[in-house]
This record gives sequence, structure tokens and C-alpha cells, in this order.
Amino acid sequence: MTFEDIKKRLEKISKLMNLSEKEIEILLKFKRIIKKELEVDGKTYEAWRIVHNDSLGPGKGGIRFHPKVSEDEIKSLAFWMSLKTSLVELPFGGSKGGIRVDPKELTEKEIEKLSRIYIRNFHEVLGQDKDIPAPDVYTNQQIMGFMLDEFEKMEGRHEPGMITGKPFELGGCLLREDATSRGGEIILNLFLERMNKKPEETRVVIQGFGNAGMNVAKMLYEQGYSIIGVSDSKGGIYDEEGIDIEKMIKIKKEKGSVIYYSNAKISNKDLLELETDVLILAALENQITEKNANDVKAKYILELANGPVTSEGEEILQKKGIIVIPDILANAGGVIVSYCEWVNNRVGHIFSKKFMEEILKEKMHKAFHKTYELYEEQKTETFTMRDAAYIIAIKRILKAEKARGNI
Ligand code: GLU
Repeated sequence: MTFEDIKKRLEKISKLMNLSEKEIEILLKFKRIIKKELEVDGKTYEAWRIVHNDSLGPGKGGIRFHPKVSEDEIKSLAFWMSLKTSLVELPFGGSKGGIRVDPKELTEKEIEKLSRIYIRNFHEVLGQDKDIPAPDVYTNQQIMGFMLDEFEKMEGRHEPGMITGKPFELGGCLLREDATSRGGEIILNLFLERMNKKPEETRVVIQGFGNAGMNVAKMLYEQGYSIIGVSDSKGGIYDEEGIDIEKMIKIKKEKGSVIYYSNAKISNKDLLELETDVLILAALENQITEKNANDVKAKYILELANGPVTSEGEEILQKKGIIVIPDILANAGGVIVSYCEWVNNRVGHIFSKKFMEEILKEKMHKAFHKTYELYEEQKTETFTMRDAAYIIAIKRILKAEKARGNI
């Protein structure tokens, strides 16, 4: 259970921060948990929208379509969104939504129907000042477009700021599509500078070749990193000499999987255990656990997905001296650009690409330096970079709760 794992992590943090019972209670509380059954053409699908904490602003977080979506997962993801938006100093709380469905089994028309029905069921709790969705696993710009359209039809007025990651013509932002990867790239470069390591002498393995994994591969490849392994849900490819990422992207887009690149196939399990400098986890949660952490040979792990390393897995990695750059820092680029989109929509102005790139860079740099400095300062055998990021994020949430008179 992922949320049980979060509770375990919070126990450690509350000792480090000396949190009171009341403060822990606030951090574990959910503002709103809504579950509905969506009906499309006689079939039903379970769906959720969950807000964790909204003391800093309206809920913010994506909607995922995945066959393994559960309440436990969406709660965990909403919790992480609260910490993420707090860490990078956005005026948002944390939320998440999802539909338990395998979108690969649906036609485009069925996906559109499902997206519209989701909004019909949840529109009352959504809005630019309430709770603002965005893309997540297996959802995209087009789905955000359908959702905005349905919401505006129901409300009888325009409100583009109720959702981010939408098509440009509907008020979307050109930078949003690869923003998570841009943010991850910034963080990885800053981190490796501290480790005195140059891109051309750094080997990288990437698990996951969806939006985040593919774009980060492209960016790092262009900078001269050697990408020696990549995988998707069908399997992986390993090439010690370095993969031609341009060719790989072409193959993934044309044939649907990275495995058609060459005969140098590798299983997802073995990919995680490759000898490499950096392992980027860009797939789903719970990938490195107490079961395989001992076999991981990477020096550094960048969590581009949410929650890919469990607390027990991380304890083992820590003992082995493997540093994990935590998700709430590494993948915050997406929500930072979502914030720019939301501001654009609210003020009816479109910031230049350059200006938004500056905001992304500034926020990522600030969050990285704050986190890394606290990590360096407190470093012990058990203190992780994640602990540092959690402490900074939790402090800001608790300050807001205090300012509201809730503590
Ligand atoms: N789904 C992304 C995340 O987990 C983005 C959320 C957003 O932009 O609201 O960070």
C-alpha cells in the first residue's frame, strides 16, 4: 500500500522536525475524497478526484487513466502534489484524479466520451479557484481539451484556468508538453555539477519512454550524455556504446515500443540493475523496493515519475551510498509550467516563451539549492535528499495552516 509507505516516511520526518500530534494529523488529512462510477456504452469505470491539502491555494494535480488506478494510489499522488507545489513555492495545494481503465483498449471516441463523463461527474468540485487538473499517465493535451470543453458547456461560460496542459488554441502553453523533462534535466545538471561530473562522461539508463522519459532522453542526448538503456512497458534495449535516441524516438512513434530498435533486448527488471551513473525512473510508482534495491548498481537515481522508490527500497539504497533525487523536486517542472498557464488564463495575457522558461529555471534552481544545502548540512547515514525536500515543503504548508489559525 503506497499511502502506508507515505505514513512511514512521515514518521521519520516528524521526528526530524519534531512535529506535534496536531501537525501530523493535518498532514495526514484529506480535504476531499470523491469516488464515482462512470458509465460509457454500458461499461462502468471507477474514477476519483482527491484533494489532499489546500492551505496554500486551490488543489493542483493531474488525472491519470490506467488499469491499476486505486484510491490508495490517487491519495498518495495527491499527497505528493501538496509537497511538490509547496517545495517550488507555487500558490497551489495538492490533488490528483484518475480513472481505472486501460486506455489502450478504448477507441479515440470512447476516450473522448469517458473524459467528458468524468467532467460531468466531478465538475462541481473543479474550477480555477477550487481544484485544477492537468495531464498525467496516459492522458494528454487532447483529453484536457475535451475536459475543458465539457466543463465550459456545463457552466455556460469560459474558464480556461480550470485545467492546464490543454491545447494552445484553448489557452494552453507551448512549454507544457515537455516541461516535466525540462525540469528534470535542469535538476540533473545542477546535481551532477555538485558531483563534479560532466555530461559526456555520464552514462544514463531510463525506465519509461512515455512523455517524460522520451523527452528527457532527447534533451540529455543532445547535451552529450550517453544513454545506454531505455525501456517501456513492453521491455527494454541496452547498448553499452550508447543508443541513438533520435532513431529510438522514431521507432517508438512508428512502432509503439522501444523494443523494435535492435536485438539488444533487456527485461525491465535487468534494466533497473544495470551498471550506470544515473538511473532515471520515468514510469510508475513502486519500482525500486526492498526486493530489488540491493541489486541496483546506479550511482544516482532521478525520480522523474511519482513515487518510484519505496521507503524500504530507499533505506537500502542509502546504505549502499546511492543518492536518490526525489520526485517532488525532480519532476516539479510540469506543475511549474502549469502554473504559468493558469496565470496566463486568469489575466488574459500570454507570457513569452522566454519569460516562462525563466520562471521554470528560477523555481527549479531555487528549490534545488534549498534542498541540496539542507541535505549537505544535515547529512547523516540516514538523512536523504528526500528528507530535506520534505522538510522544506512541510514547513511551508504548516506555516499556511498556522496563518489560517488551524494550528
Ligand atoms: N501530473 C503532473 C505531476 O504529477 C503535473 C501536474 C500539474 O501540472 O498539475 O506533477
